[in-house]
Amino acid sequence: MKRFSGKTVYKGIQIGPVFVLKGRESQVKRSRITDAEAEIGRVKHAVKKAQEQLQGLYDKAVKEVGEASAAIFEVHQMMLEDEDYLEAIHNMIRTEMVNAEYAAAVTGDNFSEMFANMDDDYMKARAADIKDISRRLVSNLEGNEDAEYYSDDPMIIVADDLSPSETVQMDKEKILAFVTVHGSANSHTAILARMMNIPALIGVPLDLNEIHTGMYAVVDGFRGEVIFDPDEETCAEAKERIAQEQEKLQLLQELKGKENITPDGRRINIYANIGSVGDVGYVLENDAGGIGLFRSEFLYLGRDQLPGEEEQFQAYKQVAQMMAGKKVIIRTLDIGADKQVDYFNLGREDNPAMGYRAIRICLTQQDIFRTQLRALFRAAYFGNLSVMYPMIISVEEVQAIYNIVDQVKAGLERDGLPYRIPEQGIMIETPAAVMISDDLAQLVDFFSIGTNDLTQYTLAIDRQNDKLDAFYNPHHKAILRMIQMVVENAHKAGKWVGICGELGADLQMTEQFVRMGVDELSVAPSMVLKVRKAVREMKGSDEQQ
Ligand code: PEP
Ligand code: MG
Repeated sequence: MKRFSGKTVYKGIQIGPVFVLKGRESQVKRSRITDAEAEIGRVKHAVKKAQEQLQGLYDKAVKEVGEASAAIFEVHQMMLEDEDYLEAIHNMIRTEMVNAEYAAAVTGDNFSEMFANMDDDYMKARAADIKDISRRLVSNLEGNEDAEYYSDDPMIIVADDLSPSETVQMDKEKILAFVTVHGSANSHTAILARMMNIPALIGVPLDLNEIHTGMYAVVDGFRGEVIFDPDEETCAEAKERIAQEQEKLQLLQELKGKENITPDGRRINIYANIGSVGDVGYVLENDAGGIGLFRSEFLYLGRDQLPGEEEQFQAYKQVAQMMAGKKVIIRTLDIGADKQVDYFNLGREDNPAMGYRAIRICLTQQDIFRTQLRALFRAAYFGNLSVMYPMIISVEEVQAIYNIVDQVKAGLERDGLPYRIPEQGIMIETPAAVMISDDLAQLVDFFSIGTNDLTQYTLAIDRQNDKLDAFYNPHHKAILRMIQMVVENAHKAGKWVGICGELGADLQMTEQFVRMGVDELSVAPSMVLKVRKAVREMKGSDEQQ
């Protein structure tokens, strides 16, 4: 029995078999070899293995998401047969006498760059595929055949770290829990774990070589620990606590259909955060009053080219229709920083959190933005949809957005398509937006405070950096005063204001937010009923403030 402590991202307890996901971050080392033909033999073996893996992925995807979406794995299989690509790897091994891993990685980078520089959009998009197949080859050469998770049984995923795009591609039904060595509680991977209602621990000091796929483990998000190879007594206790937790969740169910109203009569909207159309099920199941944040960028992750207008329109329309008249706030693309998408070719930045991301990309690559806005405005015709813009720092940005909105509107008019310009709001997630929130409030219909980024930018603490977790204090007075200031400025202009960052679900803060006058809290679906309970059981009165 091996016990390790970590930081809890989502409280919950699970028991089951482990799947170790490793080798994705390895640095490929260059080494000299003496037998080139033997090394080429290794490449051939790795290619064969990759073909089998891709066939497995294709078959799984056909069953789960249909032939059209599965086709990408066929494309990868074809690319792996490409003679120019394979010949380049073999040639490098022969002429430079280098190891297969290195030759595959460098050839992958070279080909990917070549594709990225092509004029044809289709060919450009292949850059990400080349990177993908090269990673697979390297991973097979390194013997990390576990590098990809596809299992038929639910398992506990153990990894060094997980990227949002890896997490988003996983089949939520097949994951019992996440345990990672690195990662931060405010990362998007952590957010996804909360959204999926999956117990998750980060910062667990594991040696992944000592943990094996198939081992059993108990992940205990309440105590912040994971126990590998648990003994019988530990298993029995875990099972008992899982049953108790289920009972508590059952009790929470009684709050379904009840109002979010405090004992002294204050009301608040409790909405849910989602990342995909599939999450709407969790929203309805947990009786949220609406969707306060649909992180639309997740539609752009885990794929190899931009989603088109029609695909986006269908997704947004579906969400709006499923929510049957309840409010659905869709945030426009917030890519960049930790949410990297290969086909955007954003390039390396020294300081990505403060870099080229979110609205900055939309205002410079306007075609991408226009496509999304067209899809959103068309979908707004079919439901109670609102749009909000991320990472705003100035009045000029909002004006630039409105210019584009006008052009998009004229285009839709010309095309004779049904559309509606919905309520438009902005996220308040920079100190700049807080300080000018009085001016911004004149321009927009609502504010939604993104406390994850607002905390990172106010405290100058990278939300991704696990070394700084001890300093990251979302209850910092500066943050709370900023929230108060934004609420006052919004209300003065007759606009409503919500919180959609993780702090919105902090049950210690619920009462304070209600008293501050926050109109809406948008939280992970699994937190909706818990926040409702906190609102309904508020004890303090105004005098105690
Ligand atoms: C936030 O910054 O608080 C927010 C809700 O946006 P995201 O977490 O997606 O950056
Ligand atoms: Mg943000």
